[in-house]
Amino acid sequence: MIYGIIADVHGNLEALEVVLAALASAEKIVCLGDMVGYGPNPNECVQKLREIGALCIAGNHDRAATGDLDTRWFNEYAKKAINWTAAQLTEENARYLKDLPLTLEFEDFQVVHGSLRQPLEEYILNLSDALPTFARMTRPVCFIGHSHQPFCLAKNKDGNYDGKKLTDGDEFLVDDYEQAIINVGGVGQPRDGDPRASFGVYNSNNKLFSLRRSAYDIATIQKKMKAADLPQKLIDRLAWGT
Ligand code: ZN
Repeated sequence: MIYGIIADVHGNLEALEVVLAALASAEKIVCLGDMVGYGPNPNECVQKLREIGALCIAGNHDRAATGDLDTRWFNEYAKKAINWTAAQLTEENARYLKDLPLTLEFEDFQVVHGSLRQPLEEYILNLSDALPTFARMTRPVCFIGHSHQPFCLAKNKDGNYDGKKLTDGDEFLVDDYEQAIINVGGVGQPRDGDPRASFGVYNSNNKLFSLRRSAYDIATIQKKMKAADLPQKLIDRLAWGT
């Protein structure tokens, strides 16, 4: 089975459409949370993912937008965008977000937004953050999102750990590792200095993972955000990929 693995769409319909077109040959789309928050098209993004039968889990912004997660730790820009998003969401889409599970398990991989220790909020940025998730994994691979930075942290067959940032076109066999935690980066708000949408393709037949980047129409989403009076900082960062 060929899976398209996406995360952190954040209401960015321009990026989502380009990514789904690039994933046209994927048999299943799996979305690792944060469908909404920051961007100007929360309903359209949720609707699109529902229409194509994507298998989705919740992120912290999805739960914050439905009032199920305290936004005390959100910065002022994220908070403003969440309040705007909450007011936009249709009742049906809000219900859909509320009902999303926190994790999903597949044949040879599992998915979570943040970490298996704390699915919604914990960031895995280095090996010490990753160890509790490695210990909780029930599959050899765990795909994550949340930091919007694509990387792989892996436990080698000899018991040592390896970490690397992933860039466009990077490919590797997950079978070469004992366990791997793979962050596929962000579709709708990349933060690794590359403004192109980030996503992954996983072929469970030959165990090959590839990281992909796609350019999208940033100027159009920026115009929509301005019209919606969303914070300027959130508008600017899309062009920088930070
Ligand atoms: Zn996010």
